[in-house]
Amino acid sequence: MPPSITILPLGTASAVPSLTRNHSSLAVILPSSSTLIFDVGEGTQHRIQRFPLKLNKVEKIFITHLHGDHVFGLCPLLATLMNGAGGTADPDADPRTHDADAPPTKPRIEIYGPKGLREYIRAGLTLTYTHLGDWYVVHELHFPHDAPSDPTEHCYLKEHPSGTNIPQDPQGFWRDFAAWTHPAHGNVEFTISAAEIKHSVPSVGYVLTESPRPGKIPRDYAARISKHKEALQRSGHENPMKFLGLLQAWDCPEDAALELPDGTRLTKPPRVRGRKITVLGDTCDPSPIIPLAEYSDVLVHEATNAFLPGLDPATKGTETYEAVEERTKSRGHSTPEMAGRFAHAINSRYKDDDADGPDGAAKKIMVRIGVCAMGSWMTATGSSEGLRVTCARDGVPIEVKG
Ligand SMILES: [Zn+2]
Repeated sequence: MPPSITILPLGTASAVPSLTRNHSSLAVILPSSSTLIFDVGEGTQHRIQRFPLKLNKVEKIFITHLHGDHVFGLCPLLATLMNGAGGTADPDADPRTHDADAPPTKPRIEIYGPKGLREYIRAGLTLTYTHLGDWYVVHELHFPHDAPSDPTEHCYLKEHPSGTNIPQDPQGFWRDFAAWTHPAHGNVEFTISAAEIKHSVPSVGYVLTESPRPGKIPRDYAARISKHKEALQRSGHENPMKFLGLLQAWDCPEDAALELPDGTRLTKPPRVRGRKITVLGDTCDPSPIIPLAEYSDVLVHEATNAFLPGLDPATKGTETYEAVEERTKSRGHSTPEMAGRFAHAINSRYKDDDADGPDGAAKKIMVRIGVCAMGSWMTATGSSEGLRVTCARDGVPIEVKG
């Protein structure tokens, strides 16, 4: 079984944080331990240091949209990751800016997000005299209506000149714009794609997809080879058991087969689908991402407002669920019921957690929110089979097994 992918919520509050919930951010740790960060709300670097994450493993950052509660922690995180604190007014006086060598082939950090992200980072670093000790790059995901711009113009210190503007394809997606290769055999192991999700500002959701993996070898293969071992050796297979290792190799040809002396053939088992993780930021309608997100193993979906009569003091006695949903949508957000319906629409298992620290009232609210999400799924399907709802808590990991 392949190693788990770990999803670690770093911040699960929206605009206003609490003692137990920080602004939006989420880490995904791949089996290679490469760490991806989705959104960087204020204080994210404190969360990274507090939870079991290694700063030196953070290599790519994905921003869903430019609302402050999703990006206010970005420049400080870059400064920490790349020794950028305490710059001087005269960059020439700072040894970190004296880079005798040309930019490296690969920048230390790659950042992806909607148009405006590059300029935001430049302004944040420039105006605070932040002189990074290593290189970063920004790739913007451009909508057709975004004004064209030259990404290499006005690069700030240590901004790598390989930045690109990635256009939407004719179907409205940004497909496979980043990839991770397997450290052992070098084949592409994961790719990431994006699509628009509806919010009050330009916003995208991300889909991390694992490549199909070699299928499981049937249990009887070893015994059948063993039974004919000597005959196979006589026909030129010095070590016939090696065939089992070949079948597990990523680059094993699809038509690989071993013919046994009795005429039967041991063929390569079909590849099995890899895992798929969909991470959405704020949204009131993520439907444009459905074709990419279908059959996700995990869907990370916000639920900013909920109708919780008798439990949430903010819910008035005269209010209805419909009124709460209408108000939530008008602000570009979702209720747990909307999240549950979307999980059904993409045929996903939908995850969050059912507890919120030691405070009993908060815990009850999160349990009720989970019930709301599950209820809308069951209304759509008539069953809760295959569904697991988890209300995410800061610092509580979710393991995605292979
Ligand atoms: Zn927002």
